[in-house]
Amino acid sequence: MRSRHFVTRSPKANTTPTFMFPIIFGIGEQIRTTGSGSFHCPNCGPDRDYRRERRAQCFYVFFVPVFPLNEWPEQVVCKNCCSQFTKSVLFYNPELDRQERDERPDRIKLVMILTLIRAELIPEASLQRIEDVVRAEVGEDILREHLDREIAEARALEIDPLVELIRIAQKFKSKGASTVLRYAFLAASATGTLSEEDEIFLDRLREALGISQFAFRRIIVTAAQDFTGQRSHP
Ligand SMILES: [Zn+2]
Repeated sequence: MRSRHFVTRSPKANTTPTFMFPIIFGIGEQIRTTGSGSFHCPNCGPDRDYRRERRAQCFYVFFVPVFPLNEWPEQVVCKNCCSQFTKSVLFYNPELDRQERDERPDRIKLVMILTLIRAELIPEASLQRIEDVVRAEVGEDILREHLDREIAEARALEIDPLVELIRIAQKFKSKGASTVLRYAFLAASATGTLSEEDEIFLDRLREALGISQFAFRRIIVTAAQDFTGQRSHP
């Protein structure tokens, strides 16, 4: 009797501690600081201290994070204004941004010229397209004689337009490939149709820039809306 009693109690004795020390668990946010330094905060100015942090939603047992359920990309937090940014903010340089804005119209103009100099004679519609684009970009008219001179200079360089266009795409801070393809298309399609050579050239450019055919179609639709649309409804 006693022995049976002992046996039946035994497992109970083993489970008792779980009631005496209940497992506390739950879900909470874990923030880990992964680095620090100083940067130019786009919100509050130069030479600000920042910390890099990684946030994750964690499963906790006894207040200890056991495993992450969700992890968010690393963030940069300005210690001065508490603004949060993606890591790319560490490369933010207002001077370079201004330079990029200043150089953009000339780069775009060169993209269009390089696309067009493959032909011996550039159609009038294409020259007008360059003028329209420059006007839209900088709000200024470009003199035809200046444009003619720039075209002559580009021809004199005797460079491979495709190689040069790829080089230009790398100069843009962001979206260089799609920008180059957009303006190359706008230059080539100014007459209203694309010649077979143009189609082949644009496709080679697209491939060299690593843009999918699907993305290229989207670029074409947007470019056509922006320019052809603008022209038909002045
Ligand atoms: Zn700040």
